[in-house]
Amino acid sequence: MDKVLVTGGAGYIGSHACKALKAAGFIPVTYDSLVTGWEDAVKFGPFEKGDLLDRARLDQVFNEHQPIAVMHFAALSQVGESMQKPGLYWQNNVEGSRNLIEAACDAGCMNFVFSSTCATYGDQDNVVLDEDSAQLPINAYGGSKRAIEDMLRDFGAATGLRHVIFRYFNVAGGDPEAEVGEFHQPETHLIPLMLDAIAGKRDALTVFGTDYDTPDGTCIRDYVHVCDLVDAHILGLKWLMDGKASRVFNLGTGTGFSVKQVIDHSRAVTNQAVPYKEGPRRPGDCTKLVSGSTRAKAELGWAPNRSTLDQMIADAWRWHQTGHYSK
Ligand code: UDP
Repeated sequence: MDKVLVTGGAGYIGSHACKALKAAGFIPVTYDSLVTGWEDAVKFGPFEKGDLLDRARLDQVFNEHQPIAVMHFAALSQVGESMQKPGLYWQNNVEGSRNLIEAACDAGCMNFVFSSTCATYGDQDNVVLDEDSAQLPINAYGGSKRAIEDMLRDFGAATGLRHVIFRYFNVAGGDPEAEVGEFHQPETHLIPLMLDAIAGKRDALTVFGTDYDTPDGTCIRDYVHVCDLVDAHILGLKWLMDGKASRVFNLGTGTGFSVKQVIDHSRAVTNQAVPYKEGPRRPGDCTKLVSGSTRAKAELGWAPNRSTLDQMIADAWRWHQTGHYSK
């Protein structure tokens, strides 16, 4: 069976990708530093502990496993932290990715699937974004991901490395079987924080800003189910293995929900009150990020069937009640 090197395979999205890769007949080899990932989450293939900044270790892993492709999820991904510690993001995300891309090219592993983000688009005045929208990031996280996209294009031109770039909108939900799920330490994302507040595991949720230019004053995001998201990665991998050209795809549903709408749906799905209070804006947040999602559907045949807000909250709630990682 062909192997795929999955950086960040011990993290939220990477662990779901490993499950999907195994189901699709590949062996996912997780490469993860465990700085933000969980060894417990590595359930579907071999684990190689290592840092992206460690080029010798990367070479050793490429040499040992001879993967046919890389899926690159490993990154620091907190917008707020990136505003306070930009150097950390440029070193870990950009420099780490340069090491990985060079190691892949030197090993002759020329298929590369990359996790990018809608944060590369920045704040574009309530438009629905498509892949040709300008990339004008307003935070260091988005800036670091845009730089990696540029790097992939440059390496592609120089070496023949082919890539599929996925620009994620807001990933949510979890494995319906709750084998893996979302667990960040510290947690910064809306839905898991809200579920914690509902379950009494933390204080009331703070709504970050109620004075945005949106119908209810709170930010609007396009939420996509993590299982739909990783399905797109399998399609992207097949796209590359079919010999098709490098391509960028947005992954969102095209429908936006405000923070207050997410609160309302969470109340309905869990049948419990959502303790929340209103607070100031969070630096680096865009008003509205909603994807035009026609390209992935038309060209990859992607069908985000599980990405209703209620399904995402229900699957996240199931994991919240049954699953956790400890090491
Ligand atoms: N948000 C919030 N309170 C929180 C965490 C998030 O109001 O404790 C809002 C945040 O301002 C954004 C949305 O929820 O509008 C989604 O934020 P998240 O951090 O989940 O994802 P991001 O959009 O930053 O990638």
